[in-house]
Amino acid sequence: MTVLPALRAVLFDRDDTIAYTDRSVYRDAAAWGAAHFGLDPAQLGHTLAALWQESTVTDHERSWWHLRSLEDEQTFWDTYGRELERRLDLPAGAGAEFVARFPYEVYIKAVPGAREVLTALRARGLKVGVLSNTLPSIDRTLEAVGLGDLIDVAVASCTVGAHKPEPAGYLHAAQALGVQVPEVLFIDDKLENVEAARSLGMAAEVIDLTGQRPGALHSLDDVLTLVDARTARA
Ligand SMILES: [Mg+2]
Repeated sequence: MTVLPALRAVLFDRDDTIAYTDRSVYRDAAAWGAAHFGLDPAQLGHTLAALWQESTVTDHERSWWHLRSLEDEQTFWDTYGRELERRLDLPAGAGAEFVARFPYEVYIKAVPGAREVLTALRARGLKVGVLSNTLPSIDRTLEAVGLGDLIDVAVASCTVGAHKPEPAGYLHAAQALGVQVPEVLFIDDKLENVEAARSLGMAAEVIDLTGQRPGALHSLDDVLTLVDARTARA
């Protein structure tokens, strides 16, 4: 039987684990832009969705996957704004105005109860980390959703230059947390990311906040239960 070392840190994915995208903000953004720029909200909504979708394609010329710094990210958003202007025939500066009014972080919200669970983990003496396949501005997003003060280390895959399930991000996060890899519990909604963590020697579990996936954790409270069970065994 393998004896696990004492747990010293919990490393969370961000999206659909401790935070989620609030679709209603897209509607608010489209409504605001439509009223402000005299556009059809549906047309603006579709254009925004298409622009974002293209940027998630890794080899697209406007992909965010290759951004390495906050400066790179600013250039990305500047280009995004200009592309929005071009597609909707908006005046110069309108795209930047839109991006400033609805920056990336306003679409993200904390999962209900996340603050309480992170607080409880810290009260147990554990470090809390986040490892997300995301743009360099991860600290800004976690502050915006009201969790920044409870997170010891936040790692954006862009900044590391390795996206999950590549190993480098996990190893970087463990080192930044000041713990050994087997002392980490990793939580993510994607099985491939969980399997990658396990293959490195981390304990890791899938979370499915929709409650549908058999065998997955179904709430952040389940993370606490898991932590307490492991602590009791140690
Ligand atoms: Mg996720």
